Amino acid sequence: MSDLWLVTGSQHLYGPATLARVEEHGRGIAAALDGALSERGLPVGVRHRGPVASADEIRRVCLEATADDDCLGLIVWAHTFSPAKSWLRGLVALGKPLLHLHTQFNRELPWAEIDMDFMNLNQSAHGDRELAHALARADVRRTTVAGHWQDPAVLARLDTWTRAALGWHEAQRLRIARFGDNMRRVAVTEGDKVEAELRLGMAVDGYGVGELAAVVGDAADETVDELLRAYENEYEVAPELREDGERRASLREAARIEAGLRAFLEDGGFCAFTDTFEDLGALRQLPGIAAQRLMADGYGFGAEGDWKTAALVRIAKVMATGLPGGTSFMEDYTYDLTPGDEKVLGAHMLEVCPSIAGSRPRCEVHPLAIGSRDDPVRLVFTAHPGAAVVAALFDRGDGLRLLVNEVDVVEPDAPLLRLPVGHAVWRPRPSFAAAAEAWLTAGGPHHTVLSFPLGTEVWVDFATIAGLELTEVARDG
Ligand code: MN
Repeated sequence: MSDLWLVTGSQHLYGPATLARVEEHGRGIAAALDGALSERGLPVGVRHRGPVASADEIRRVCLEATADDDCLGLIVWAHTFSPAKSWLRGLVALGKPLLHLHTQFNRELPWAEIDMDFMNLNQSAHGDRELAHALARADVRRTTVAGHWQDPAVLARLDTWTRAALGWHEAQRLRIARFGDNMRRVAVTEGDKVEAELRLGMAVDGYGVGELAAVVGDAADETVDELLRAYENEYEVAPELREDGERRASLREAARIEAGLRAFLEDGGFCAFTDTFEDLGALRQLPGIAAQRLMADGYGFGAEGDWKTAALVRIAKVMATGLPGGTSFMEDYTYDLTPGDEKVLGAHMLEVCPSIAGSRPRCEVHPLAIGSRDDPVRLVFTAHPGAAVVAALFDRGDGLRLLVNEVDVVEPDAPLLRLPVGHAVWRPRPSFAAAAEAWLTAGGPHHTVLSFPLGTEVWVDFATIAGLELTEVARDG
């Protein structure tokens, strides 16, 4: 379990009795924030650190936070006055996300009783302005949230920022297995892996697909049998793929690929992966149901060597921890351009995550229109309707840009009876033309992450933490 540290700033000017009150208040607020995050299903604790009242204490707490793998980030506020110079040496050494919580212990003022002792204990109105000056001068990437610490709107903002901090924490240790290289001649799925590791921490490790094929070949028959039982329990398996069906061997091969992929990723500590249909070596099918089920279990995936989207799918799944609604790799595939009712039909060759399915997925086998291997097994479904956000990473060559667009996933106009892949239909906000023009102008890729539980705000907070340039195509309709 990871922790956020609530660091309460003060100074020694007021004497030990005041600092004791500050500590008591800080502990109370930390406990309340801790409770609010657990209520929201976040596996994150909030610990009070402080009050910090000198430059040495502040520097030490910043260094400790930076060195602690379980510390997700700092929440800072100045209960009393905390002179900005005492923060500078600590802030320049801080390597963790920072939320400035501009709050005050008491909600209402006890107007008739206010004396100067009260004023000096509860002075974050100007103490936090002094702290914010230090944050601004040190150019600390930060999110600022103002309001009473019990206000549901403040707690919702804390929830969102904590999710972004979890995403950053994941990026910092994320390892992505890249089976084969990039789809030949495609540019957008390329990128500077060194820059990505410097900026986001993620490591991309390349493997010849032969190494994966060997692990697939070694998969135990019992493991394959277990997966076949899971398929039969979880999906509507097509008659030809059932136990006595004429294409049962295809399902068995698909399960063997899943078993091998899982083993490879688990053994290597990978939480995301890519493949490409152009480089399958001895794999007899392009991984379809395997990639889909791994995504449903929280793995990141990107097709055609797209390690950036694989990372983003994983980060999104971590940020959505405990929230209902699915998150998937996605591609803008084809349009309905009926004037005034334009829609995107999103899908991929196979690899759409069943976490967004509107009903029980069907498990089917069909030819892949491209490539030269056996027909791959896949899960087929239509995404349920609802508000969602698509996000993508664009490598500009001199840095990374994050793009986000709010969309409304809708029911298709008619059932897609002959479309043998998982898919989603959506209307981009604020309109098809505005969204597509902004996306294309910003260099937005065709591979994205589509997520129901994550709104724009969590992506904005993630971009802030990561120092990414951000293009928000539309917000709040
Ligand atoms: Mn693609």
